[in-house]
Amino acid sequence: MTSLAGLYDAALLDLDGVVYVGPRAVEHATESLVRAGEAGMRLAYVTNNSFRTPRTVAEHLRELGVPAAEEDVVTSAQAAARLAAERCGPGARALVIGGEGLLSAVRARGLVPVRSADDGPCCVVQGFAPSLSWRDLAEAGYAVGRGVPWIATNADRDAPTARGTAPGNGALIGVVEAATGLVPTVAGKPSAALLHDGATRTGARHPLMIGDRLDTDVQGAHCAGYDSLLVLTGATTWQELLMAPAHRRPTHLAADLRGLLAPARAVARHPDGSSCGGWRASVRDRELLVEGDGDPYDALWAACSAAWAAPELPGMTKALAVLDRYVRPLGADV
Ligand SMILES: [Mg+2]
Repeated sequence: MTSLAGLYDAALLDLDGVVYVGPRAVEHATESLVRAGEAGMRLAYVTNNSFRTPRTVAEHLRELGVPAAEEDVVTSAQAAARLAAERCGPGARALVIGGEGLLSAVRARGLVPVRSADDGPCCVVQGFAPSLSWRDLAEAGYAVGRGVPWIATNADRDAPTARGTAPGNGALIGVVEAATGLVPTVAGKPSAALLHDGATRTGARHPLMIGDRLDTDVQGAHCAGYDSLLVLTGATTWQELLMAPAHRRPTHLAADLRGLLAPARAVARHPDGSSCGGWRASVRDRELLVEGDGDPYDALWAACSAAWAAPELPGMTKALAVLDRYVRPLGADV
């Protein structure tokens, strides 16, 4: 059986919750990525973070033992700069609202960063930086209000920090949206631009997007037309996966990045349900039932298949009780 690393020619990897959590590597991530690379899979790291430069991200990855060069990192700042350059052409001025990662990405595309709406920008490119002030947002508002095209690196509303939840780029975009009544083009996940850049960078014909979030990584893969692998080492719980709407359902499921080295989890549909490994799931009287034994992630995948095939999401009380007994002890619900 061919592993996912053999089935796809490139992995587009989300970082936080997939490769690392804060300063620590996710368990099994480093050795799994090394082995996937040895199996011939090209690796690119696609991040909505527009503040850190690819060099900084690559250094962080190498400190964790993950094989990564600067050019293996694709940021939403680079995707936004690409969109801006396509719209305005080289040599054009871009009003940059953001930090060093965005400034260097814009320069790399041959655009000239400016800081004022009165400098004649061809576009506004907005990303997160902790130093952004009302004056910066006001400059964006002036330009956007005059009809200058507006491109945002990403629309993540919140930015988790050690002290709690802080406003992310989506929240800062919201300030300019509220003032102007206009909305930007977004480059980062779940928009397709960033993932397309990842595929271009790796020369991939058949890439696999790997992430921990349904609303950015998996939905982004749907938007880009790529298959996706959800790993349960980050933001998504297995309960949320079961309830996922169609546009946020992954192609593959794994506990963690060891899933790259295993064959795709095969699910079979039957007239009355779905089976995966030693497990069978069915919907009877609009209630999801799960029975069997073996790999608990097979149980979850069979349950997802049966629930998602039903005309409407079934009741889950009994299935949740079974899955809770098997899936939780493996650390899936983190
Ligand atoms: Mg993530």
